[in-house]
Amino acid sequence: MRLSKMHLKTLREVPNEAEIASHILLLRTGMIRKLVSGVYGFMPLGYRSIRKIEEIIRQEMDAKGAQEIHMSAVQPAELWMESGRWFKYGPELWRLKDRNGRDFCLGPTHEEIFTDIVRSEVNSYRQLPLNLYQIQTKYRDEARPRFGLMRSREFIMKDAYSFDKTFEELDKSYEDMYDAYERVFTRCGLTFRPVEADTGAIGGSNSHEFTALSEVGESEIAYCETCSMAATTEKALCIDAPASNEAELPLETVHTPGTKTIEDVANFLELDKTQTMKALLFVTYDDEQNENGYVAAFVRGDRELNMIKLVNALNIPEHAIAFADEAKMGAETGCVGGFTGPVGIHDCTIVVDSELPGLKNLCAGACKEDHHMLHVNYGRDYKADIIADLKLLKEGDPCPVCGAPVKHARGIEVGQVFKLGTKYSEAMGAYYKDENMEDQLVVMGCYGIGVTRTLAAVVEQHHDENGIIWPMSVAPYHAIVTIVNTGDEVQEKTAEEIYQRLLGAGVEVLLDDRKERPGVKFKDADLLGIPIRIIVGRGAADGIVEYKLRRDADKEERSMEDAINKTIQTVMQEK
Ligand code: ATP
Ligand code: MG
Repeated sequence: MRLSKMHLKTLREVPNEAEIASHILLLRTGMIRKLVSGVYGFMPLGYRSIRKIEEIIRQEMDAKGAQEIHMSAVQPAELWMESGRWFKYGPELWRLKDRNGRDFCLGPTHEEIFTDIVRSEVNSYRQLPLNLYQIQTKYRDEARPRFGLMRSREFIMKDAYSFDKTFEELDKSYEDMYDAYERVFTRCGLTFRPVEADTGAIGGSNSHEFTALSEVGESEIAYCETCSMAATTEKALCIDAPASNEAELPLETVHTPGTKTIEDVANFLELDKTQTMKALLFVTYDDEQNENGYVAAFVRGDRELNMIKLVNALNIPEHAIAFADEAKMGAETGCVGGFTGPVGIHDCTIVVDSELPGLKNLCAGACKEDHHMLHVNYGRDYKADIIADLKLLKEGDPCPVCGAPVKHARGIEVGQVFKLGTKYSEAMGAYYKDENMEDQLVVMGCYGIGVTRTLAAVVEQHHDENGIIWPMSVAPYHAIVTIVNTGDEVQEKTAEEIYQRLLGAGVEVLLDDRKERPGVKFKDADLLGIPIRIIVGRGAADGIVEYKLRRDADKEERSMEDAINKTIQTVMQEK
C-alpha cells in the first residue's frame, strides 16, 4: 500500500479524553475512531490488526476441532427468561423493543443462543463432543466505559461453547481451550498469566482468567512465588487468623468521642487494629431494582472487605447491592454511622467473616453515637446469619496454599474460560440420548477472548514514547519503505523496486511516497510502529539503504539486495 493513497489521519497531539498509552496511541495512529462513549470504529490500519488477532484465534480454535459459526447479535428476551438472566444480568444488558413491543437484547455473551442450538439440533450421544465458536460484536452497557478499547460498550469477542456428555469430557474440552488460549496470547506477543477466577454473571464451577500483565490493568491478581497459586484477588482465598484461646472478658461500653474510623478508635483506645472489627453497611435490591433489605458485613479492623465474596455469600448479583444510606438504615436497624457493631443491630442480614468467631475480646462499635464496646465475643454477644470468607487477600498475607507471603500484580483480563457444567442445559432443557436411549443433560463450558481488548493490551505492552512497537504477528503491515526525498528519481526508483519485490515475496509492505518532509515521515513511522523500516535516502545512488527494526535503536547500512533478503527472512521468522 502506498501511504500517499492510504486513508490515514495521524494526530500530533494527545487527545484529551485518553489517559493510558494504548488509548492515546490507537487514537493518535488513527487506528480507531470514537463515535460515542465506549463505541469505536476501526480504520484501515486498526482493522488489519484486528483481523490478524482474529486469524490467530481462528487457527488455534480450529486446531482444537472447534467449528466457527456466526449468530445474530440481537437476542429475544424469551431465551434470557428461560435461563433466568433477563433480570439477573442487570443494567449492563442492552435491552430494546421491536415495533410490536417485544423485548430483545443486544448480546453481551451467547450462552442462551448456543444452548438453544444444541437443545434443538443435538439428539444423540454420537453428536458429542461439540465445540462451536464465533467472532462477533458484543454489547454491554458498561457503567463506566473507559480507556478506549479496554472497556467499551461495543466490542469484538470470540466466544466458544463446548458441549460434552460427561464432566470428565468437559475437563478435556476445558484443557484444550486453556491450551489454545495460551497459544493465542503467546502468538499475539503478550506477557500474561492464567489465574483462577470468580465465575461472576456467567456462572459455573471453575474458571480461569488470562491476564496480560500491565500497571494500567483493571484486574488485580495475587500470586505466590513459592508455589503455583495464582488467582484474581476477587477469587483468592484468604486464610483466617488462628483462633485465640484467651478467656472471654465481660462486655464493656466505652466513650470514644469522634472516633469514626478504625484508625481513630484503635489509636484512642491504644489497641492494635487486629483487636477491632469493622462494619460495612449495604442495601440490597430485587429484580425490579426495589430496595429489599439491609446487610451488615463484619471483618477484622485491619482487613478489607472483598465485595465479590460478599455477593457470593449472599447469592445475589453484583448489581443488586450498594452502600446503604446510614441514616436511613439506622432508623430500621439501629446501626449508627461510624459506630456500628454486631451487638444491638437488628432487622438486617448479618454476614460475618470466617475468622471473627475464633477471635476473642474484640472492640466493635456500640450502635450508639461516640461509643464502642470492648470484649465482644461471637456466640455470647452476637450471631451471624451467614459466616463466610469475606476478606481481600492483600500483598504480604500468607498464601492460601503454602503460607508464603503473596505478591500482587495488575493486569488486563484478555480472556476467560468457564466450566459451566449443567447450569444452562438444566435451565433450558438441553438433553442428549445416551447409548441406552435415556435423556442426559449436556455438560457445557464457555470460553471468551476480548479481541479488541487484546489489541489494546498488545499496545499497552509494546510501545515507547514515540509510538507503538508492533509484534510482527499482529502488526498492520510487516515493513515500511520510506523515501527520504520524494522527487529524487534514484530514491523513488530504488524504493519502488524494493516495494515491488517485497510484495512479490508476500511481505505486507507500506511505501511512504508522500510529499512530506523526512522528519514527518520518520515520526509517523515511529508512531505507527511497523516492525521493519527500510529507509531509501542519498545512499541509494550507490545501492545502499538503511535497515532498521522499530524495536532497536540502531540502523544498519545494507545493500538493497541484502535489505530485501533480511526483511523477508525476519518476516518469515516472526509473523
Ligand atoms: P470484566 O471483568 O473486565 O468486565 P468480564 O469478566 O465481564 O470482563 P467476560 O464475560 O469474561 O468479561 O468476557 C470475555 C472477554 O471479553 C473478557 O475476558 C474481555 O477480554 C472481553 N470484555 C469483556 N467486557 C469487555 C468490555 N466492556 N470491553 C472490551 N472487552 C471486554
Ligand atoms: Mg471475565
